[in-house]
Amino acid sequence: MNLFVANWKMHMTREQARAYAEALGELIDDGIPGAELVLAPPFTALEAARDREGRWSLAAQNLSEHASGAFTGEVSAEMLADSGCRYVIVGHSERRTLFGEDGPRLAGKVARARDFGLVPIYCVGETGAERLAGETAATLARQLETLRDDPAMEPLVIAYEPVWAIGSGLAATPVDSAAAAKRIAELLPTRGDLRILYGGSVTAGNAAELLGRGRVNGFLVGGASLDAGAFAAIARSGAA
Ligand code: PEP
Repeated sequence: MNLFVANWKMHMTREQARAYAEALGELIDDGIPGAELVLAPPFTALEAARDREGRWSLAAQNLSEHASGAFTGEVSAEMLADSGCRYVIVGHSERRTLFGEDGPRLAGKVARARDFGLVPIYCVGETGAERLAGETAATLARQLETLRDDPAMEPLVIAYEPVWAIGSGLAATPVDSAAAAKRIAELLPTRGDLRILYGGSVTAGNAAELLGRGRVNGFLVGGASLDAGAFAAIARSGAA
């Protein structure tokens, strides 16, 4: 079963989320065989995006590395679990580059997610400059070091998202994404339950090709996921 995660980023009011959920429900009917669907709305739209029939689950886009306390503006793992989240995205490149999130802080976020049974969708990926310098493998290794204290028996999702491919319209080639996924699996040899997603300019047009080879188990989708029809089409063409 492949996994498809819709990262809405900072889009969608509650009303828009409700309309999306209704449209998605109509499009997928009882669900898409071979596809697990997850919506990652903003915190404020989690409840509106929930499916009472359980055809998709919820992810948060971020969480605090602190358990609770005087951290104005932050949202804890406990709050996310209480809001019905099953997954949480950790270390998206926008959090890394725009909000300065780095290794120790991200390790704390993964640990807090574990405290409340949330499955981290941990994002890794090289920048364009790192790619040109031939540093993709070293970047992946460095970013995965953050997970060294995370128990290997816990379920884990890694999203390989080359920074240059996010929102650029220029997806990695199937060969490159498969090679990166293989490398990630090699760097995490003891993990029992590991799924590896690709993210970066995935569309209904390139989804089947990107999943056609190797170790890629689904997608983290940004822009194209804002349209329920496009997201459903991506999941349908990548279902396995
Ligand atoms: C993302 O932000 O996780 C992402 C993959 O975005 P896009 O699909 O728009 O490239």
